[in-house]
Amino acid sequence: MATERILIVGVGGLGVPALWTLARAGARQLSLVDPDPVELSNLARQVIYRTADIGTPKVEAAARWLNERFPDVSVERHAVALDASNAARLIAAHDFVIDATDSPAAKFLINDACIATRTPFVYGGVVGMTGQAMTVIPTETACIRCVFETVPDEDEIQGCREAGIVGPVAGAIGAMQAGEAMRAARAQTTLLSGKILTYDASGPSRVRITAVSPRQGCDCGAWRPTHRESHAPGK
Ligand SMILES: [Zn+2]
Repeated sequence: MATERILIVGVGGLGVPALWTLARAGARQLSLVDPDPVELSNLARQVIYRTADIGTPKVEAAARWLNERFPDVSVERHAVALDASNAARLIAAHDFVIDATDSPAAKFLINDACIATRTPFVYGGVVGMTGQAMTVIPTETACIRCVFETVPDEDEIQGCREAGIVGPVAGAIGAMQAGEAMRAARAQTTLLSGKILTYDASGPSRVRITAVSPRQGCDCGAWRPTHRESHAPGK
């Protein structure tokens, strides 16, 4: 565990509970990526930030919070947006990635860079009262494109942003993502590889786990033919 390098992309609703859970669980090397400063609207949900942090890059404020409480954790800070020019390089320098972003485009970018560099990652998403998480082991289990195929259009994305996210749901999903990172770090089987967890907090809380298969035609390389050629009839 001591040498496991975990990259958290997005230090907001999902990334904050994820980094807190990881630090408490004994993670030692965390890297944070987020281009945004702390804003007043973040304080209620993203509980590690204080009024004095407003205007400070989130990665700086989060690193300071970690350093004060978990001095053994080494924190690398990247106050930039993950984009096509830096994604592969940043991801290749880590052993596991937590997708804590809120943009579908960023999620596909993380997916593709993790597939290209063979880096396992855990996807997380929250819309309204519903959260989802899924771990991807490149070339072994279904990737985000196996499940969703294409990036949703801008109207759909805007709809998700306006729906907002609920703190406790994001807290639960971020903590689950951290749990997957810790299992990977300890060389244990991740619970959500090849499976999507859905947490629905509207009404009585409900957790559902659905198996997902790799999709034939997806470029990620996880799909395998069910029947080998040798099983084909004829000579
Ligand atoms: Zn795929």
